[in-house]
Amino acid sequence: SSTNKTNKQSRLTVALRIRPLSKQEKDKGLTKIAQAVDSQMVVLQEPEPDRNDPLRQKRQQEKQFMFDMAFDEFIDQDEIYNKTTKDILDFVLGGYHATIFAYGPTGAGKTHTMVGYNSNPGIMVRALNDLFQRMHEAAEEDQFDVTMSYLEVYNENIRDLLRPGTGHLDLREDARSNEIKVAGLLEVMNMLQKGNKNRTVEATAANATSSRSHALLQVNVHRRSKMKDVKGKVKAGRLFMIDLAGSERASQTKNRGQRLNEGAHINRSLLALANCINALAKGDAKYVNFRDSKLTRLLKDALSGNCKTVMIAHIAPSAVQREESFNTLVYADRAKNI
Ligand code: ADP
Ligand code: MG
Repeated sequence: SSTNKTNKQSRLTVALRIRPLSKQEKDKGLTKIAQAVDSQMVVLQEPEPDRNDPLRQKRQQEKQFMFDMAFDEFIDQDEIYNKTTKDILDFVLGGYHATIFAYGPTGAGKTHTMVGYNSNPGIMVRALNDLFQRMHEAAEEDQFDVTMSYLEVYNENIRDLLRPGTGHLDLREDARSNEIKVAGLLEVMNMLQKGNKNRTVEATAANATSSRSHALLQVNVHRRSKMKDVKGKVKAGRLFMIDLAGSERASQTKNRGQRLNEGAHINRSLLALANCINALAKGDAKYVNFRDSKLTRLLKDALSGNCKTVMIAHIAPSAVQREESFNTLVYADRAKNI
């Protein structure tokens, strides 16, 4: 089914990003076994080709996967943003819903893509930057009202990252009362940075600084024409940008008790997301179970109706992460059918 998606109007775009080997990985002598061989194809090699069995070697040497876009280690933050997100801003400014989410195991580069660093920011910052730029350019004809919320789903609890003292949120409230009205880019940047500091970060065997939480940045843009004859009509666009928790299995997180429970919850939200995506792919909108997890309840509006969604799946390049990379490639491949 890797070539059945030729329709450019499709609702889900699937991109795959491979991060570079880290210095530590290189020092350990690890090599790349995952590569984007062109702008769409990713190849995953066997960790150890079976040299004693030439037939088997030939058959299992590598696996190929096709995506809407494939990004190798040399692609920079700017290019990722331009190719996955930039065009979607028109859609949002036109009054529609759009979602960009980063999927993949811990350590594969999700936060790097979505948040990044001050010196080299990720999609969230670049999108907000562009959004405010566009609104500024259109300010003579249109009046814009922007609100945003930044929520964390951790252990099936929801927290407001912009107001960390407020405890767990009731889902019914999320849609409205946690939105904060924002005046400009600088304010938004400060909020985002503050929010990121408030994310629940816990050490696991998989990655010492990995976040076990899903982070959802929601930006609402209300656009009203200033022209007399079209006054009053409001276009309500919404952009979700999501840094998902690690997709690795709980069993592979070599922990017990609390951590394992979190793993199960993380998988419940991701499983629910996968189920929703599968049902949507079949066009069974009526049978999509958004209520199965907090994540999918929050994303209900974004995933149903007239929306655009971009999934950026992430993998690490070395043989050590081969199984997780393979699982991620298969998951992303399935999502293409939407
Ligand atoms: P995740 O959020 O998926 O757990 P991170 O984004 O934290 O993973 O990435 C893990 C590490 O790899 C971080 O130190 C990050 O800076 C680095 N990294 C990830 N992607 C890239 C990339 N494309 N280029 C350079 N470094 C990267
Ligand atoms: Mg992360």
